[in-house]
Amino acid sequence: MKFPCPKCEQPGISPKNKYRAGYMQDTFCAHCNVRLSANPWFLVPFSLIYMWVLAVCTFLYVFDGAGMMALLYGVIGWLVVDALNVLLIPMIEMDG
Ligand SMILES: [Zn+2]
Repeated sequence: MKFPCPKCEQPGISPKNKYRAGYMQDTFCAHCNVRLSANPWFLVPFSLIYMWVLAVCTFLYVFDGAGMMALLYGVIGWLVVDALNVLLIPMIEMDG
């Protein structure tokens, strides 16, 4: 399964590169070689969600005595947000 390129509309973006794009790294379409990045208007709220997951789990760990369960929740929450990141954030062409 590959993700479609916003320029040539061919499935030119591997899940690994799509994932990297979600961490603000650029990538290239395998078909037309255009330089792509994740849409920053979607990345900003996702960054806040990542921080929110960390904050909630830190709170549970430190103040609620949840111990290892808090770490487990943190890992699960992070993986869920990662999956949404890869599936939902659209790619855009980078200028230049
Ligand atoms: Zn392309």
